[in-house]
Amino acid sequence: MRNYTKHYINGEWVESTGTDTIDVINPATEEIIGQISSGTEEDVHRAVMAAKEAFPYFSQTSREERIALLNNIVKEYENRKDDFVQIITEELGSPISKSESVQYEMGLQHFKQAAKELETFTFLEDRGGHVVQKDAIGVAGLITPWNFPTNQAATKLASAFAAGATVVLKPASKTPYAAIIMAEIFEKAGMPKGVFNLVNGSGSRVGNAISSHSDVAFVSFTGSGAVGEKIMKNAAEGIKKVSLELGGKSPLVILPDANIYKAAQTAVEGVANNAGQVCTAATRTIIPHSIKNEFVEAVKEIVANYPVGDPVKESTQMGPQVSKDQWETVQSYIQKGIDEGATLIAGGLGKPEGLETGYFSQLTVFSNVKNDMVIAQEEIFGPVMSIITYDDLDEAIEIANDTVYGLAGYVYGEEPKLLAHVAKSLKAGRITINNEDGDFQAPFGGFKQSGIGREWGDYGIEEFLEPKSILGLPNV
Ligand code: NAD
Repeated sequence: MRNYTKHYINGEWVESTGTDTIDVINPATEEIIGQISSGTEEDVHRAVMAAKEAFPYFSQTSREERIALLNNIVKEYENRKDDFVQIITEELGSPISKSESVQYEMGLQHFKQAAKELETFTFLEDRGGHVVQKDAIGVAGLITPWNFPTNQAATKLASAFAAGATVVLKPASKTPYAAIIMAEIFEKAGMPKGVFNLVNGSGSRVGNAISSHSDVAFVSFTGSGAVGEKIMKNAAEGIKKVSLELGGKSPLVILPDANIYKAAQTAVEGVANNAGQVCTAATRTIIPHSIKNEFVEAVKEIVANYPVGDPVKESTQMGPQVSKDQWETVQSYIQKGIDEGATLIAGGLGKPEGLETGYFSQLTVFSNVKNDMVIAQEEIFGPVMSIITYDDLDEAIEIANDTVYGLAGYVYGEEPKLLAHVAKSLKAGRITINNEDGDFQAPFGGFKQSGIGREWGDYGIEEFLEPKSILGLPNV
């Protein structure tokens, strides 16, 4: 059992001021794997005070000192690879190969990228008539979801440390252990006390206390739109800055000249990844009407052979949903798709055969979906694809942009001019053409209800800084 009932405040592991605990469950086995503390408002206050006290010193450290700190973190993070891979497989149900190649790796890359950005980052910009000096913002409250436990925390933490901000982190209570390993890493890397503080617990208590604390200058939140709204409301009192990384319903536009089988593989992998629990998942597959039959056949074949199952097995590509609640939500959307009259071509209700224990969903695909159906408009956060057809490319772009979200978009095909045209026409914060590799410098964030602000690379660091213009600065 992993019983970690302490918080990390002011450079040490401390008892909570409360006595309640929260069980952490392995979603593949439904077994309790440990407990964390259900933190209190008092715990949050102590953590914010520690971060406030550390801020004057840490915000004045030199670029070189912060690069050295980030490089130490990278070294210590690499030393904990096996621990990350094991724990993320256990707490999230992520397939073990992906726990390494995606989950472990993404967290690492953010710390590496921040160190690299700092080499050239401009903190003092001479703009002719004035200079702009960028000052660290103060104490930042970081609230993260469960779907990428290292990535979501690491992008915020790396940017904050690069900027010279101090932090209080509250990770999702379903997947708390990756952040506990990070606290151990920071301690070994020589983090000055009070710069990083970790308070575990529920969103309604710990998260709420962070976003309403008067000494928190900035709340950087990743999660659902509903909670994002609450955070904004809290932040309005006292005028805190917020950055919100929220949900999505991203389109994959397949061009008429695409290789149909490869396009179908891209589409299936897009919804199966992390059991569909990906904010940027391409859940609306928008295809030319003319290729529909062939595309549907290809999708059926790929889904039938997709390795869904025990996350501990090397060959598994899709594990369970993170929790019973999430599994039930996915089921309700599959039922909704059936009720709305979409055609179920793969998967469906219930668990996959032989996977009765664990919160496993079937990899599910609907065709004949209209873009105004609930399954095409709402974020399901499960492995459910909607296939929608178009007659010409203008219609494809219109369908793709007809959503309240705007986090990501994808284009797949051959003709460069068409690929570029569609990519430039999509209204979303990150567009990927033909499965191009990720780039940790590229800004990440959403248009419309997908959020406010940007993370990753230099854009991410900017979020933790306040630009100050100085007029008439003497040349001293
Ligand atoms: P969630 O909004 O339920 O929880 C996110 C975090 O907020 C958790 O730590 C939770 O404990 C906390 N929280 C809950 N209630 C709170 C409150 N009242 N005040 C303050 N904090 C509170 O989201 P989730 O279920 O953990 O994650 C899934 C959602 O996250 C999806 O909508 C997904 O699209 C989104 N997401 C977005 C991105 C992105 O970068 N845009 C990335 C990953 C996930």
